[in-house]
Amino acid sequence: MRLILPLLLLACMCAPLSSRASTASVEALLKQAQAIRSSDPPRFKRLLAELNGQAGQATLRQRQEMQYLQAYDLAYSGKYDEGSRLAQQVIAETSDVNLKFQAGTLVVNTYSLNGRFNEGLRQLGQTLALIDQVDDPNLRQQGLIVAATLYNQLGQYALGSHYADLVLNNRPLAGRVACFASYTKFDSLLHLGTLPDDDAPMESAALQCLSQGEVMMANLIRGTLAKKWIAQGQGDRALAMLQSHLEQINSTHYSRLIIEIRALMAEIQLGKDDLQAAERNAMIAINQSPSLVNSPPLVSAYATLYKVAEKRRDFSTALAFYKHYAAAEQGYLNEVKTRELAYQIVRNENQQKNQQIELLNRQNSLLQLQQRVDQQKAESSRQLMLLFAIFALVIAYWGYKTRRLHVSLRRMAQTDALTGICNRHHFTAQAEKTLLHCAKVGEQVSLIMFDLDHFKVINDTYGHVTGDWVLKEVAKTCSELCRRMDYFGRLGGEEFAILLQGCDAKAATRIAEDCRVRISRIASAPSGHAFKITASFGVSCAMSSGYDLDKLISNADQMLYRAKREGRNRVRAYTHDVPIETREPAPWHGPSPPVDPNLSASMGTAKA
Ligand code: GH3
Ligand code: MG
Ligand code: MG
Repeated sequence: MRLILPLLLLACMCAPLSSRASTASVEALLKQAQAIRSSDPPRFKRLLAELNGQAGQATLRQRQEMQYLQAYDLAYSGKYDEGSRLAQQVIAETSDVNLKFQAGTLVVNTYSLNGRFNEGLRQLGQTLALIDQVDDPNLRQQGLIVAATLYNQLGQYALGSHYADLVLNNRPLAGRVACFASYTKFDSLLHLGTLPDDDAPMESAALQCLSQGEVMMANLIRGTLAKKWIAQGQGDRALAMLQSHLEQINSTHYSRLIIEIRALMAEIQLGKDDLQAAERNAMIAINQSPSLVNSPPLVSAYATLYKVAEKRRDFSTALAFYKHYAAAEQGYLNEVKTRELAYQIVRNENQQKNQQIELLNRQNSLLQLQQRVDQQKAESSRQLMLLFAIFALVIAYWGYKTRRLHVSLRRMAQTDALTGICNRHHFTAQAEKTLLHCAKVGEQVSLIMFDLDHFKVINDTYGHVTGDWVLKEVAKTCSELCRRMDYFGRLGGEEFAILLQGCDAKAATRIAEDCRVRISRIASAPSGHAFKITASFGVSCAMSSGYDLDKLISNADQMLYRAKREGRNRVRAYTHDVPIETREPAPWHGPSPPVDPNLSASMGTAKA
């Protein structure tokens, strides 16, 4: 049985307004039309026509509401498809959530009235998804009752009961809404077999419907109560109750209610063998509405008729009614199957959708996880690279420091701490290397040795610090005369040596002479004292002494002592044959020399 209950409900939710039409504004007309659309259909149609005439002055939102009302009008007139299409257009175009929800509810209704339960369920899902954004509580409750009714139609009574409860548990609850929700709830419980033992809630719900002027709903509830009593074996009580309200029931002219009640009465009367009454009520039910095929009351009415004929032993009539009964029952069972299938199809669709969403969510989480892993990998390799870089830097720094330490240690090992020139050990080593090389290539090489004159006196007279100062000044002065390839070393105390690669005795003597002169010109003033600094020089060369260092030193040393002996502050060279001319030092004219009475002694050339 197709119920037009939801459509009636949509209409009944609004209280009727004044019947006087107003053309004051489109908005006012819309409000009126919404209010009277069910209570006064002819007037509603006139208002719609009036609204169409004023469409030019309407806003977009108002035009969309007008479109919804037209859709409602079409559906109410039985043009479900047209009404549904128009309402869907409103859903697609409007941005007003309330209107979208209202139009959605209408579409659900038209689909279920049309038997297009799949579409009805899909639309219901989309419409209920908006419910939290709907700010009109009436519209929200309307949507929930439509949901409850649709689920009951689909045989999903637990869901029907659930949605009815959502309405009934709401406060404040309008009387009309409470009446519709109560009926839907009791209908669900009847089919679930869980109607309360206590009759009071149903009886008071029927009275509550009556107080709202909802005679049809009140008697539908009574029908439900009667079914409960019949099931409890209280057929007489049920019959009495229905008979007492029969006049009221007839006054509704609502065929679905009448067919339901008459079929029930016929069923009870058949049980009491009141065949005539049973036949009469069953026939009233069947004749009530030819459109309500395949409904349980119709099946029941045909069953009553064939059983009545059977009891009368009128088998041909019984067979005829039995055929109707069988066809109606088969039709009803087919419809139940169709509805069940529709529900399962949409449920599967939803499950698939949910599974897809779940799958997508999982894929998404997987991607996020992968992303995090990649990020961590990148972070780890960055840290590793940083660690490597730090490690490389530490190694490089350590290498640099080690090298510097090494260089400084080597320098310390090779250098005379006071003067900064080669120490004896390093000088000897380098000199030996150089001599070896020169010997190999037959290159000239010479050695200069010199010793400061009367240095002990400087020490003793001006102190050790001044002595040190003198040593440094002498080293500095002579270093300036040395080439990069020469080796200049302090052999000990105030004794120095210079190894000159590529120099013969003559060149070496000239260099020695230069050194001597420069030393003798060192100004002692910076030391804070006035004294004369001189040195005596001995020169030897490989040509005369060979490439042996000891021999070279020994010969240079001989010459040095000869220079000392011959008056100091002079150069003496060791040669076999070539006489080397040297310039003898000039007499000292500075502040009185602290020592050396032989300071002005002459210089000469020595022969080995
Ligand atoms: P001569 O002209 O005969 O060479 O006489 P001299 O005084 O220079 O020679 P002597 O060998 O008698 O004295 C050398 C002095 O050099 C003795 C020592 O105290 C001093 N001396 C040695 N090494 C250093 C040093 O590093 N610093 C200072 N200030 N004096 C030193
Ligand atoms: Mg000495
Ligand atoms: Mg000396």
